[in-house]
Amino acid sequence: MNLFDRDSIYYAGLRLDRASEQRKDTFWIKQQWQLESCRVLLLHGNRNLMIWNRDSNQMPLAVSHSRAEAAYLLPELEAMVFLGQEGATPIFAADVSDCDEIEVLALPGEHELVDLREAGWLLSAEEAALLAYARGLLYWNRHNSFCSNCGSVAESQQGGHVRRCTNEKCGRLHFPRTDPAVIMLVEDISDHSNPRCLLGRNSRFPARLMSTLAGFVDPLESLEKCVEREVFEEAGIRVDRIAYQASQPWPFPSSIMLGFRARALTTDIDIDGVEIAEADWFTPGQLKSFGEWGDDGCAYCLPRRDSIARYLIESWIKDFGAVAG
Ligand SMILES: [Zn+2]
Repeated sequence: MNLFDRDSIYYAGLRLDRASEQRKDTFWIKQQWQLESCRVLLLHGNRNLMIWNRDSNQMPLAVSHSRAEAAYLLPELEAMVFLGQEGATPIFAADVSDCDEIEVLALPGEHELVDLREAGWLLSAEEAALLAYARGLLYWNRHNSFCSNCGSVAESQQGGHVRRCTNEKCGRLHFPRTDPAVIMLVEDISDHSNPRCLLGRNSRFPARLMSTLAGFVDPLESLEKCVEREVFEEAGIRVDRIAYQASQPWPFPSSIMLGFRARALTTDIDIDGVEIAEADWFTPGQLKSFGEWGDDGCAYCLPRRDSIARYLIESWIKDFGAVAG
C-alpha cells in the first residue's frame, strides 16, 4: 500500500457502483437478485467469510457465493442488502447469524469466518472496503428493525438503504447512520529545526501503542471546534490552523473518521490520566524507530496500517522527515 495516497486509505477504496438511483426501484432489485451472475457476501456474528492461510505470506481473500450455493442459508430478499454492481454482477450481502456456524462453514470452498478487525489490514484495499461496506450496512439494518419515533416495525426498502415505519400514522423514513469522529495530528513547529508531533496512548490501547488523538463530534459542533476541544481535553494543548487531510469510513460499527492536522499553540502536556494514559512529543527521527503493531521489544509502536492515524503520521513524517530529528 502506498501510505501517502489518500485513495489507498483502508475501507475507502470501494470500486463498486452503488447504483444508488436504480436501487430505489423494488422491481429492479428483484431482477438483480434473479440474475445467475448475482453474488452474495455472508456475515455471521460480524465475521466475514474469507480464505486465509495464516501460515503463508498470501493475503486473505474475501469469499462470495452464488445464490444457488447459499440458498439454504438465505433469509427473505427483504432481509438482505444490495451493495451494488461490480461490472454487470450484482453484489448482495446477508446476515446469517441466526444459522448455525457449522451450516455456514458447510458452503462450498475452503474458508473460515474472520472478524474484519483482525484481517482487514491484510486484505486488498478493494476487498477490505467491500467487506466493510457489507458489515456496516447489515449492522445498521440489524439495529433498526423498529421505528425510533413510534416503535412500530420498520421495513427495509431500497435494498436495505432505507427503512420505513409501517405505522401509517407515522411512516417515518430512517437512513443509515454515520457517526462523525475527528482524528488529528497536532504538530509543534515553533522550532523549525526540530518539528515534533503529539501522540498519545488511549487507556484502551495495547501497551506501547502511540497514536493521534481522536474523539466524537458533539451535536451542533463544527469539526474545527471539535478538534480544538478534544486536543485540549485529552492533552491540555491549544491549537489553531486546523486543516483537513483525509477521511476514512470506519465500520466498527458506524463511524467516519475525519482526519486533520493542527498547529500547537502551547506545548505543556496535561493528560487526564483516565482516557489518555500517556502522551508526548515525537520527532520524525523518533517515529521512524517505532515498531509495528504487535512487535515485541520496541519502546513504542505505530498504529496499524489500516488506520487513518497511521496515514496522518506517515504523511507528517514525509513532510518533515528530511528535517534533522
Ligand atoms: Zn414510526
